Amino acid sequence: MDLWYTEKHSENVGITMKVTKTLFSGESEFQKLDIVETLEYGKMMLLDGLVMVTERDEFVYHDMISHPALFTHPNPKKVLVIGGGDGGSIREIMKHPSVEQAVLCEIDGLVIDKSIELLPSMACEIDGSNPRVKLHVDDGIAYIREHQDEFDVIMIDSTDPIGPAVGLFEEDFYRLVFGALKEDGIMVAQSESPFYHPEIQKNMYKNLRAVYPIVEMYQAFIPTYPSGFWSFAFASKKYHPVKDFDRERAKNRGFYTRYYNEDLHLGAFMLPTFAKENIAG
Ligand code: SAM
Repeated sequence: MDLWYTEKHSENVGITMKVTKTLFSGESEFQKLDIVETLEYGKMMLLDGLVMVTERDEFVYHDMISHPALFTHPNPKKVLVIGGGDGGSIREIMKHPSVEQAVLCEIDGLVIDKSIELLPSMACEIDGSNPRVKLHVDDGIAYIREHQDEFDVIMIDSTDPIGPAVGLFEEDFYRLVFGALKEDGIMVAQSESPFYHPEIQKNMYKNLRAVYPIVEMYQAFIPTYPSGFWSFAFASKKYHPVKDFDRERAKNRGFYTRYYNEDLHLGAFMLPTFAKENIAG
């Protein structure tokens, strides 16, 4: 008998993948966690039945949530990731020698533990082996209240705006993040699909524009996310991701990135008209 996993992206459309094995299935106080083996996308993490990461396409998401901000900020030293319990964002942040400390604040310790156990290609820097990495198991909203004026870059690597992540898309939270950033800090956040989530984007970018002087959207192609057309919000106190981008610095980065590069950095901020319309002020 064939076993298929299906995630519905709307009432009548979804993605379906053949699954060969369930590696873990359990429940924390926050959500249901499954890690399965798929025939074509490697291991896949699901939270409350929704795709979080797959071994085959996670490189896109983790490159693009981390490198655009880290190559726009001239000298990022202290970075915070809220969410990101699979460790993929921290893995990419650690490629930047200027980063002296990366903090991961993930609300669900089970996600961290099972990622270390079953997704080592992503969790390789959060397994306790890297002294530059600090882990906190905490609500990002509570954590950020206690850590004002501390970070050069903050990445909101969260689930969709449901459950514990709802507050991570609100204006109050963006104000707290603004306060946690240094005077030239940058915040990035995954900002859903321009194709499927125009209303979420409209609200999110309105909230961001109420707080940050520079707010831009950039895009990436992530096949296992709804429609494959995904986006990130870039919210900055001082540096613009295109005007202030040092292409030579990114070109001479000295490490491999399978999706990100110095040309794609600029191209990602060029949006289709309908995506621009989603977030028009
Ligand atoms: N790449 C995925 C995406 O775009 O949907 C996100 C992956 S990562 C596993 C998302 C993490 O955000 C989850 O582990 C979840 O527990 C965490 N999370 C949700 N709300 C949170 C909060 N308020 N504070 C800290 N972590 C949170």
